[in-house]
Amino acid sequence: MSKDFDLIVIGGGSGGLAGAFRAAEHGARVALLEPALLGGTCVNVGCVPKKAMWLAADVAHKLQLARTLGFALPPAPLDWPTFIAHRQRYIGNIHDSYRKRLEASGIALLPMRGHFVDAHTVECHDGVRLGAKHILIATGGHAVKPDIPGAELGGVSDHFFDWTAAPERVAIVGGGYIAVELAGVLQALGSRVEVFVRGPRLLDGFEAELTEQLAEDYRQAGVHFHFQHRLAAVEAVGGGVQLRAVDGEPTPRFDAALFATGRRANTAALRLDAAGVATDARGRIVVDALHATNVAGVHAVGDVTTNLALTPVAIAAARRLMGRLFGGRSDNALDQSDIATVVFSHPPLATVGLTEAQARERHGSDVHVYRSGFRPMLNALADVPQRSAFKLVCVGEQRRVAGIHLLGDGADEILQGFAVALKRGITLDDLHETIAIHPTSAEEVVLMR
Ligand code: FAD
Ligand code: NDP
Repeated sequence: MSKDFDLIVIGGGSGGLAGAFRAAEHGARVALLEPALLGGTCVNVGCVPKKAMWLAADVAHKLQLARTLGFALPPAPLDWPTFIAHRQRYIGNIHDSYRKRLEASGIALLPMRGHFVDAHTVECHDGVRLGAKHILIATGGHAVKPDIPGAELGGVSDHFFDWTAAPERVAIVGGGYIAVELAGVLQALGSRVEVFVRGPRLLDGFEAELTEQLAEDYRQAGVHFHFQHRLAAVEAVGGGVQLRAVDGEPTPRFDAALFATGRRANTAALRLDAAGVATDARGRIVVDALHATNVAGVHAVGDVTTNLALTPVAIAAARRLMGRLFGGRSDNALDQSDIATVVFSHPPLATVGLTEAQARERHGSDVHVYRSGFRPMLNALADVPQRSAFKLVCVGEQRRVAGIHLLGDGADEILQGFAVALKRGITLDDLHETIAIHPTSAEEVVLMR
């Protein structure tokens, strides 16, 4: 049996849902396949529960500051089950709202996996075949561990969200977004955290001065780093684990280990060869600037592609694609330059545009850098050493702002507006023409010279 739609969406995460809703708004008949929880990675095991845990950690920091500043508060460790109940209720509300919107939009939700039969036909897990002129692949990705003995003894970020208490001692392997974010959360919530990074620094590709300051802030908070660590194996020891380096040196025992060593595209079960869809060497679907694959009528967005693995990128790509396919907007392409992003560390690290190194590569010596390092007022009041570090990267005689990099409390909320300004091509003079809002951390962005 084959049922016909205008669009079949495979995957009900950030990109798939955004695409299905937008296509339905344009009047398309849409089928959406999602075998797991609606919302995919971001809602269930990514941005949303991560931000909830980050907020819990932030409250823990504030409680500590409050005590230092004279509030008569007893020590107040987090009761994880209570907090998790709030977190999961919040997530449950998102599921409910998606379900209602799917129903109201007339989108056919099939709670199962699908794979290609040909470029216009998808077979559902129950054998039903769906046909459509257009198919959107939005199957996301999954965490991967290094291929070493004992890797099964460590978890990944998905497992972290099942934890109901902070382990006493935690090892985190990796130096990217997830390693840095989970290290900050766990240290703030009472774990003793050690981070094992194979390279010389955290967050490769981010502004180096800021990641060095972030590492210093983490050290002040008690996190231990092991840079250029070559991990050979994970071993069970005394109800916990130890990591063994290539040189044979074992670590002390940890209660738990987490791998935050990158993610891979979910393409293995899609039978892409049946449709002839091409992937790159890492299994990611190759798309052009319009999110078309090499096969007419088959499109892909989100983490399954070579695009930046961020929720707003998947959503924006899907909405623009549907504008082109069903909304008569042939010019509706996603501009992938200068995408702002925040690492939810403690404090957060927010960045848009070029780092100094990238700017020098492109613009040679015509690069002008402005810095501000300061202690935010609350830290200064409490005599806490943690510092903020802001950096502007400007290019050309006009000093066009090409990069804004902010490490410090509030950076996550400050950057969005400045990202608009950067995309509009502002110069250093434009920043200086803007009167500061005092006293804030944000004012430093318009005062750097
Ligand atoms: P997903 O959201 O992963 O959705 C894919 C869906 O496809 C899944 O629901 C899956 O069940 C389904 N699926 C898979 N195979 C099939 C099949 N064969 N048939 C049918 N369905 C299938 N991004 C941010 O912007 N900000 C953040 O703060 C942030 N934090 C993160 C924290 C963590 C711990 C992680 C892991 C990621 C985080 N991200 C964050 C990244 C963000 O979650 C992803 O970029 C985003 O979810 C990608 O959306 P997607 O639609 O491509 O895939
Ligand atoms: P990242 O790519 O950010 O980082 C992976 C880290 O693991 C790097 O430090 C990498 O080192 C290291 N690594 C890779 N393989 C090994 C190995 N075999 N042994 C030791 N270390 C290894 O991936 P994440 O998993 O942290 O996150 C995946 C993506 O999800 C991010 O890139 C981001 O797009 C998205 N995300 C976004 C967030 C946000 O917006 N706040 C939060 C979380 C995730 P090396 O640099 O040497 O390769």
